[in-house]
Amino acid sequence: MAIRFQCPECGQSISVGEHMAGHRGACPNCRKQVIVPSQAPARPQGDGRRSSSLSDWLTFRRMVTPKIIQALFVICVILSILGMVLMIAMSVYDLYKAPREDKLSFVLMAVAAPFLAALAIMVARIYAEVLIVVFRINETLSDVLDELKSTPRQ
Ligand SMILES: [Zn+2]
Repeated sequence: MAIRFQCPECGQSISVGEHMAGHRGACPNCRKQVIVPSQAPARPQGDGRRSSSLSDWLTFRRMVTPKIIQALFVICVILSILGMVLMIAMSVYDLYKAPREDKLSFVLMAVAAPFLAALAIMVARIYAEVLIVVFRINETLSDVLDELKSTPRQ
């Protein structure tokens, strides 16, 4: 892979082979001695983002709310599953105590419990997605902005 860099003297774009990394050479345009960089200047990716995370946070470019929505969704899922287990346990418990003519309703309750839990999780999921999509748009726009800023202009 070739190394592309700009002459610090005249700004001429220079492309040389990788074996020239760190060596001196004459600029083909201005003939001044230049040192070939070891690599093309890398775009700041993870590091640049991490160092600016605080300012992102302070300027509301990174938001806490989506994290809270995610946490609430996880809590909703856990509560739904716990509720389902509890409902089945109570139905089975009542099934043994209930008089014969009432037994069917408790069987139905036990059977319905997983469906109710699934419904609760789906509702929570849709609600969370509707709330989170606004923040996702914001984050995506911020990322696009970062990309545009970090792309060197030719
Ligand atoms: Zn030059």
